[in-house]
Amino acid sequence: MRIGIIGTGYVGLVTGACLADLGHDVVCVDKDAAKIAQIRSGHLPLYEPGLDGLVAANVGAGRLRFTTEIAQGLSGAQAIFIAVGTPARREDGNADLSHVHEAVAAVARVATAPVCLVVKSTVPVGTGDTLERIIAEANPRAHIVVVSNPEFLRQGAAIGDFRQPDRIVIGTDDSAARALLLELYAPLHLPIAAFVLTGRRSAELIKYAANAFLAMKITFINEMADLCEKAGGDVLDVAHGIGLDARIGAKFLNPGPGFGGSCFPKDTMALARSAQDHGSPMRLIETTIAINEQRKRAVARKIIAACGGDVRGKSLAILGLTFKPDTDDMREAPAIAIILALLDAGARIRAFDPAGMETARLQLPNIAYGSDAYDAARGAHGVVLVTEWPVFRSLDLSHMRRMMAGSTLVDLRNFYRREEAEASGLCYTGIGQAIPLREQTAIAAE
Ligand code: NAD
Repeated sequence: MRIGIIGTGYVGLVTGACLADLGHDVVCVDKDAAKIAQIRSGHLPLYEPGLDGLVAANVGAGRLRFTTEIAQGLSGAQAIFIAVGTPARREDGNADLSHVHEAVAAVARVATAPVCLVVKSTVPVGTGDTLERIIAEANPRAHIVVVSNPEFLRQGAAIGDFRQPDRIVIGTDDSAARALLLELYAPLHLPIAAFVLTGRRSAELIKYAANAFLAMKITFINEMADLCEKAGGDVLDVAHGIGLDARIGAKFLNPGPGFGGSCFPKDTMALARSAQDHGSPMRLIETTIAINEQRKRAVARKIIAACGGDVRGKSLAILGLTFKPDTDDMREAPAIAIILALLDAGARIRAFDPAGMETARLQLPNIAYGSDAYDAARGAHGVVLVTEWPVFRSLDLSHMRRMMAGSTLVDLRNFYRREEAEASGLCYTGIGQAIPLREQTAIAAE
């Protein structure tokens, strides 16, 4: 099938490469000429495991092309995917749909044959109807069916998620469009039960409901972690104990510095705003957003407390900058807010991230960068483990301690147990673990 993809970012590039790999003939379009030139020269503008090889193989096989010309992407296409960004609008937190509107109007203007417009971008309920109006205004003769097909890929595991999705949501009342999408995904050989065939508005809502629910789950376990610290429990045991309940499930029960990334912050905000606009406010989501915002500052205070209450003039190593492992994406990464708060408190920062350093340097130009975790820890008063990169799971803590000037380890991912860190000469602070009685006594005596 001939397919066009408008927007060649994380979602567009992964979708384009994976659809081409299924045997489809794909043209990816982006208005960013530098990005297209970079991809054409064989260098991807983003890091996603396995993607460079997949793109190269399918470009080589002649099934995947890149252009800045929408007309080229549309030429002969039966389906056009919209995968442009929908960031939060700065003024009110609503989803900024300007890129979607612009892309769809451009498609409508050049459409000469019937085509199915598949919206992969995350858009608020009712956007499909607005797009139909935009199409009718831009080109009354265009024959374009608008379908919602939200994307659920996880950065860092995107190719696997495309090939073995939990589900594929297809939102349309148009039977021909539904059949076309089922044919398009047929080479995945999924059981029919993997497809959620629904109306367009339900499909739009499913995407926001999924992200908001996961954000709530993270926020819940973060609050449980805080309670464990105060009341004397271990959040890892609590998470394990509730995660075994099939009604709850074990995923997204890892406490940490709060959620970030390219989706959860903006999508929870957009859902809350959209719910308010419909006169049906979602207080759980509004509260989740507020708690998560406060958490980043609270985590910075926790780090400062672990460093003896004052970090002025002290050097701190930050391990992990990206919002999650296996990506170079820094959008809304908790590390940014934490580092800025520590800088405000007078600390000097030396950071290391396995893939995000290039992006980080643009956003955090005023900090130093190490060549690896040990180099970042060199001369540091304390080390703060922020992002759960697997490489940080097996650090030689004794070696790291020898590189450091101080002995504080703040482990925001609970990668290490207190005993093992202490055996290496480190003073350990985790998340959601009760402070041992001997330390409580020492603090009380200060
Ligand atoms: P991105 O910012 O990485 O990429 C968007 C691309 O669209 C950019 O390259 C931009 O230049 C291009 N673009 C913007 N307007 C254009 C236009 N008019 N014509 C052609 N190209 C245009 O965004 P992303 O992370 O890939 O996200 C895309 C959408 O998918 C968003 O709505 C997002 O919420 C959703 N989504 C993202 C993820 C994720 O993990 N990143 C997962 C699921 C859903």
